[in-house]
Amino acid sequence: MERNPLVYQMMESHLNDVYYGIKDSKPFMIVESWEEIERFIYELTKEICGEEMVNKYYKNKIKRFYSSNGISGGDLSINGSYPQEILDCFIEQNIIKENMIPNFDNIINMEWGFSDEFSICDYCSSVISRIPDSAFWTPDYFYTPYDDFYCGNCTRLFDFVKKIYIEEVLLNNYNAANTILNENDFINEGYTLYQHNKTKMLNSEELFEELNKKYENIIFDIVEQTPFEIEWRVWIKNSGDYEGEI
Ligand SMILES: [Zn+2]
Repeated sequence: MERNPLVYQMMESHLNDVYYGIKDSKPFMIVESWEEIERFIYELTKEICGEEMVNKYYKNKIKRFYSSNGISGGDLSINGSYPQEILDCFIEQNIIKENMIPNFDNIINMEWGFSDEFSICDYCSSVISRIPDSAFWTPDYFYTPYDDFYCGNCTRLFDFVKKIYIEEVLLNNYNAANTILNENDFINEGYTLYQHNKTKMLNSEELFEELNKKYENIIFDIVEQTPFEIEWRVWIKNSGDYEGEI
């Protein structure tokens, strides 16, 4: 179903705290809070059904909304059902089809998620989920101290992002490990493989302090992580090691 122009217009004027990115080649909206959704639903309903009808059905909800407790669920249900008069009004305006629930998802007709789960890559605008989806999950993105966010693909593809990322990992000493770049990236950056291990636990602090006596740049690299075992490598580089760029 195509998005209604009226909905688009209301999105423009009433969804202020949202960001747009791209996920699976489609636009994706990132929302800051339920309050944002509730305000939008309220304003849209007022616009298409009129203030009188909104007051008739949602007086108590609106009261809650304005006392910032919010209309729960981002839809227009009252105790789990929808007033027919409101449904008719939404259907008549072609915002939803018959038998469709007038909730945020169906009304805006686009994929969306909350900002505590999704971020947008500052370079390619890809939407990346930051929520682990399995026990083997490792992050394929990173934040800079300035809150810039880059996806794993851009980090692997673009040299300037790669350099920012490596600096970021180095800055965190033993507290950060690579989860984005692969072997060749490190070799190309002039790093040498120091160690490749599989262990139950990695005491990176101890190893870092030891290696730091001899090497300037030390990067821990998580190859694979399972609930039982961690496969990791250590890459090392001294400034004298790298003669690539002159
Ligand atoms: Zn990207």
